[in-house]
Amino acid sequence: MSDSDMVQVRVDEEVCVGSGTCVMVDPAHFTLVDGKGRAPGEPVERTEDLEDAVLDCPVQAILSARA
Ligand code: SF4
Repeated sequence: MSDSDMVQVRVDEEVCVGSGTCVMVDPAHFTLVDGKGRAPGEPVERTEDLEDAVLDCPVQAILSARA
């Protein structure tokens, strides 16, 4: 695995509306905590489900960057 396969993901809680979409699309990486989406705290391997969750968030609250 190269470094480019790792991403750091975070949820902007100011933007998140708590839809839970990210949890439904990628439960391996996202949880709902106090009504807000929560992403892994450390860099994770980029997966199709992870990319789908980022794209499917209805308010684009999930930010991902290469780690
Ligand atoms: S999909 Fe977006 S708005 Fe919905 S819980 Fe996840 S981060 Fe929040």
